[in-house]
Amino acid sequence: MMAMAFDWLNKFHHEMEKEPDYAEKTLAAYRLGMRAKGSIVGVTIQRAENCCDAVRQLAENKIYHPDEAPRLPLPECSQGRRCGCVYRPVMTYEQTKKG
Ligand SMILES: [Zn+2]
Repeated sequence: MMAMAFDWLNKFHHEMEKEPDYAEKTLAAYRLGMRAKGSIVGVTIQRAENCCDAVRQLAENKIYHPDEAPRLPLPECSQGRRCGCVYRPVMTYEQTKKG
């Protein structure tokens, strides 16, 4: 029963449209985070399971500076603002763990 509820939530989340300024707002927040504490080293793009080919062309797990990250949704994304791909902050401890 719980699993079904979570499925529904996930589905709902992925079907929500992004705000037109999603990329600007999110990247600006991470940029501030980098300046404030130094624990954020950059952002990665977390692909949605069922998302477009455009995002699959990007290097997986690449760490971008917020100023240089591709804007989401990607212009070529077939799902437009329903694109489920999101930015995820990369913390310093994660980076050192990966080597
Ligand atoms: Zn997409």
